[in-house]
Amino acid sequence: MRRLHAAATDVGRVREHNEDNVLADPELGFYAVADGMGGRAAGEVASKLAVETMAETLRAHRGDLGGRDAGSVLTAAVHAASRAILCEARKDSERQGMGTTVTAVLTQGERVHVAHVGDSRLYLVRGGEAVRLTRDHTLLEELVLAGHVSRADADGAEMGRLRNVLARAVGVAADIVVDTFEFRPLPGDRLLLCSDGLSHYVDEPEIAEVAGGDPEVAVVRLVQVANERGGHDNSSAVVLGFEDGDDADLTAAERYGERFAALSAIPALRDLEPRLATQVILASETSEYPAGTEIARADTPADALCVLLQGTVRFRHGAEAERAAGPGCWFGEAVLVDRWVRTPRVVAASRVRVARLSRDAVDRVSAREPELPGRLVQAFAKGLAERTGAARSS
Ligand code: MG
Repeated sequence: MRRLHAAATDVGRVREHNEDNVLADPELGFYAVADGMGGRAAGEVASKLAVETMAETLRAHRGDLGGRDAGSVLTAAVHAASRAILCEARKDSERQGMGTTVTAVLTQGERVHVAHVGDSRLYLVRGGEAVRLTRDHTLLEELVLAGHVSRADADGAEMGRLRNVLARAVGVAADIVVDTFEFRPLPGDRLLLCSDGLSHYVDEPEIAEVAGGDPEVAVVRLVQVANERGGHDNSSAVVLGFEDGDDADLTAAERYGERFAALSAIPALRDLEPRLATQVILASETSEYPAGTEIARADTPADALCVLLQGTVRFRHGAEAERAAGPGCWFGEAVLVDRWVRTPRVVAASRVRVARLSRDAVDRVSAREPELPGRLVQAFAKGLAERTGAARSS
């Protein structure tokens, strides 16, 4: 697939220094935004050191990037950046405590690998909609997660200062937790990496509209919008676009659309906010099975939630009579709540195509989105109550 990109950063209308740094290296497939913090221009040093150290680390491990190691090399690059900043801070007392956010993307083969620390953001624009794929690591978000502050209060003006306090940053400790994930980009996709000075001023529909077009035009426009609306902070944008896929990419796009429709229709997932739902669906896959395959075994914990996309399956639950079901039926949803629940036996009655969301995939998303497990339990319980209620009233 052909990649296009553009990057822009601007000091804004209030600050004297630009402590943001952007890096776009199409040859390496590496794109990053870093928003530094620390007095006396130390933030500038931290964010620059972060993106440059990461690029150097990736170049040094170029040989490992082709395989499945690309994600771990990207994570290692964030850790290397953190050590480099700590080391630099020790040399100069005025730079002590400096740090930076990092939101970075590494494109390798058919995959996009993401690493994220702090409150810069990554948005995916796909099918005319923009969805944020990263969580802000701020004190305010931590308080919301812990239940000390409601989402409504968090969005109010009084909490503004807490919103700017990072709960995690690169360069402030030797051991930092990095959120990482990967997915397959599709033709027409746009990724926007941006600092908080930009995301503060633009919402998702606007990002979809502006970033959906030519990256060169988009980055200029986005920074301009941030400045027109106040420019209280430095603002940065990197837009990465994917175009002109081959047949495999077009099939992947078709399969994604099919999975998206099927998975977002089932009760356990349909009420999730788009940010969580998109991440769960990005982590799903399409599988095909020949007739006669036992897709789920009776009385064993399911390893995946499956929605039938094409073909027919036969269910057998305990001593009940066997029944057949077609596209749209689902099974194995107990994986969403990570609990042993007696499952039916499901056998493919014809060649079938299935949207599959594995327990491992749910766990991987939950590791960086701590509210997901609770949301899934709620949705699972609600779905169960609806079905039991419907059965009782019929
Ligand atoms: Mg900022």
